[in-house]
Amino acid sequence: MSNDGPTLNDDSFRGGRAQTGPAHSHGHTHSHGNGPDHSHPLTPGQHAHARGRNGRDQPASGGGHDFDLPALPEAVDVFDTTLRDGSQQEGLSLTVDDKLRVAEQLDHLGVTFIEGGWPGSNPKDAEFFARAPTELNLARATLVAFGSTRRAGVRAEDDETLRHLVEAQTEAVCIVAKSSEMHVVDALRTTLDEAVSMVVDSVEFLRANDLRVFLDAEHFFDGYKANPEFSLRILGAAEEAGAETLVLCDTNGGTLPYEVERIVSTVLGGFETQVGVHFHNDSGCAVANSLAAVGRGATHVQGCVNGYGERAGNTDLSAAIPDLSLKLKVATIPRERLELLTPVAHHIAELVNIAPDPQQPFVGASVFAHKAGLHTSAIARRSDAYEHISPELVGNGTRFVVSEMAGRSTLSMKAAELGLELDSQAMASVLDSLKRLEHEGYHFEVADGSLELLLRNSTGWVQDFFELESYRVIADQGEGNSTEATVKVLVGSERIVATAEGNGPVNALDGAVRAAIGAHYPGLAGVHLVDYRVRVLDSARGTGSVTRVLIDSTDGDRTWTTIGVSENIIAASWQALSDSIVYGLLHAPVPPGPIAGG
Ligand SMILES: [Zn+2]
Repeated sequence: MSNDGPTLNDDSFRGGRAQTGPAHSHGHTHSHGNGPDHSHPLTPGQHAHARGRNGRDQPASGGGHDFDLPALPEAVDVFDTTLRDGSQQEGLSLTVDDKLRVAEQLDHLGVTFIEGGWPGSNPKDAEFFARAPTELNLARATLVAFGSTRRAGVRAEDDETLRHLVEAQTEAVCIVAKSSEMHVVDALRTTLDEAVSMVVDSVEFLRANDLRVFLDAEHFFDGYKANPEFSLRILGAAEEAGAETLVLCDTNGGTLPYEVERIVSTVLGGFETQVGVHFHNDSGCAVANSLAAVGRGATHVQGCVNGYGERAGNTDLSAAIPDLSLKLKVATIPRERLELLTPVAHHIAELVNIAPDPQQPFVGASVFAHKAGLHTSAIARRSDAYEHISPELVGNGTRFVVSEMAGRSTLSMKAAELGLELDSQAMASVLDSLKRLEHEGYHFEVADGSLELLLRNSTGWVQDFFELESYRVIADQGEGNSTEATVKVLVGSERIVATAEGNGPVNALDGAVRAAIGAHYPGLAGVHLVDYRVRVLDSARGTGSVTRVLIDSTDGDRTWTTIGVSENIIAASWQALSDSIVYGLLHAPVPPGPIAGG
């Protein structure tokens, strides 16, 4: 398995870059300027400067190919706005403590800028910026406060938003400015000249306060399509007043990559200042648009890890970063930190309390999972046959999903993963059991914990942590709606009866089992149930419906899923719970076993 780079087209990309030559070649024939943009008044051909601020001259290297890729910048700045734009997502709400922890994770990942919020807009963001200097120890990232230009008709030094930005005490600020004629006239209800003055005054004021200034040009792409002169005037004003980066925003998210290429090329032709981009994903193109913009020389990419944001979200940096770094060889976060991408994306998902999407490119749990038998035997021989990159590069991993469709090779790889040796007889019996159980409604590809126990059982292993004699669950419809469970178990030769209450059958049974065996197995205290899902399966076999219960558990280190299926929901729950506890004890950090004398 290749571990040192993307498995496809590595050389092609290098070849493509060599052909287009160094990024700094003034007068080099670029493909920009096709179409109406030729006529705008700015001098073309100057974007080499903007690229050069992050990059060095790129020496020509590599072999020849008969196609061109754009002359790519050597590096881009990654600007994460999870804490500001990302938190506009419906259902996403962060406490100040959560925000501090998300910022730590982003710094750990190695992004260049972290936009922390809008200090003037709400007390929570104000508190974040007040606490950040003492509680947030950023090793690498620069914290950025967000705000807007001064209001119309107000002097910059009298404007509250600008004052809050200065008081936030960050090194850099990002201010949003209206750069679309329609929004100036209809939303702001002021003149185009005043809109330009608002940018000039605000940027000058912030620069006079020693702040680095990024200008978010709101609705830039839509505004540019309607009235390019005005949109470019806003950028020109910001550049002249001392903005460090001109960020072209696709605020409504409707722009397509070919438009991005055309417009970014034109802008880069007219300005010496660094150009950045901020895309929303309403057309499903936010990552593609970001790559297209970088292809035309943008060197600052805004977005959110996991693509959070209102409506369809912002550019998903979890995809944009590896696309840029691994495929286009444009440096983003430090190379050695790329493998933190999956763990950090998942950690942030946990902090914002939104379940990670298993199909999220690069970092999703399913995106390097292989199911079909034929396919998995091929991948065992050659991983690049079915994977676009080596998953370890982004901290993800190849997973073999076992189901009734699995062939022998999938199963033997799974067994090898667990360090189990299955002879051909055991293998045949497992395959039989799998097919029978999946027919009954089990679904082992989502229940890795139960699958492992099934494989272990096929080798003759039987768990001896405890033996169930019986359990009983009583649901009380009285006050508090509590449920009571009693379990009778044997641990070794000792018979134990324990009772517990809970807010439902699983909770009550879990409490009763812990009460019964917890003293014998201290490792159990570290095992927690984190999720419980019930699904009623409408059986096509005419035997009525069955209930499938899935339980997710964790010991803080690993997480596992176990399954139970029965016509009786309590019986299905017990199976899943019992598997969860056995799996937890099997992998408990302290060697399990009855305490001597217990
Ligand atoms: Zn936005």
